[in-house]
Amino acid sequence: MPLIDDYDGFLVDLDGVVWTGREPVPGSPEALAAMLAAGKEVVFVTNNPSKPAEAYAKRLQGYGVETTPDRIVTAGIVVAKLAAEAAGPGGGALVLGYEPLQELIAATGMRVVDVEEATEAKVVVVSGFVTFTYEHLRGAKFALDAGAALVATSHDATMPMPGGEWPGTGAILAAVEVASGRKAEIAGKPERHLFDLALSKIPDAKRVAMIGDRLSSDIAGGHAAGLDTILVLSGTSGSGGSEDPETAAVKPDLIVANLAALV
Ligand SMILES: [Mg+2]
Repeated sequence: MPLIDDYDGFLVDLDGVVWTGREPVPGSPEALAAMLAAGKEVVFVTNNPSKPAEAYAKRLQGYGVETTPDRIVTAGIVVAKLAAEAAGPGGGALVLGYEPLQELIAATGMRVVDVEEATEAKVVVVSGFVTFTYEHLRGAKFALDAGAALVATSHDATMPMPGGEWPGTGAILAAVEVASGRKAEIAGKPERHLFDLALSKIPDAKRVAMIGDRLSSDIAGGHAAGLDTILVLSGTSGSGGSEDPETAAVKPDLIVANLAALV
């Protein structure tokens, strides 16, 4: 009996589980297609807000995984809600992150402000992006010193990429937190907000497992949300990855090489 038959729903992380950078993890698209064909409820959950849900859905569809944008929950969607609550309608938001995240923030009715006018921000939103500079850091500090709230997509230290992990949102957030002496509210895994939104999409699934590659976010967060947890070794916890199941504070219920091992 395939391991997926123990469950009727899954929350599935993307980076390091379904793909690594631009490359799919071998066997993952076929495994997801098999899960869906078996009638499993699948919601994709990612701390990576660098693309809108529509783009992630399109990429998955391109691999033969029949899903829709409403089955994708990014930390960007969740952090935009938190930011809007903090800033209020029309409030200024300084966004340290990619364009799609800025668009999500703007779509909630907030006004995205430039680093030069950082002190007009009611909220600072932090997410990993490769063009991060000292000016962003200084702008964030000025905004926070002036009383802005601080929210972030995650505190993941790294993100899996082909050829080695890259610095993640947590690395940039650490710089902002150290400079300002403030602590961010986290939208993504392992905190509760993202799990609440994802689980609300599959209310009829009674036995749900979280499948992810990162112990400190996927596994710790899934466990805290009351779910069974399945660690795949195709990302940050695999050979050469930065996290080790042997020393993790929260142990997964199951460890498999990759998604394909579940079907
Ligand atoms: Mg991951």
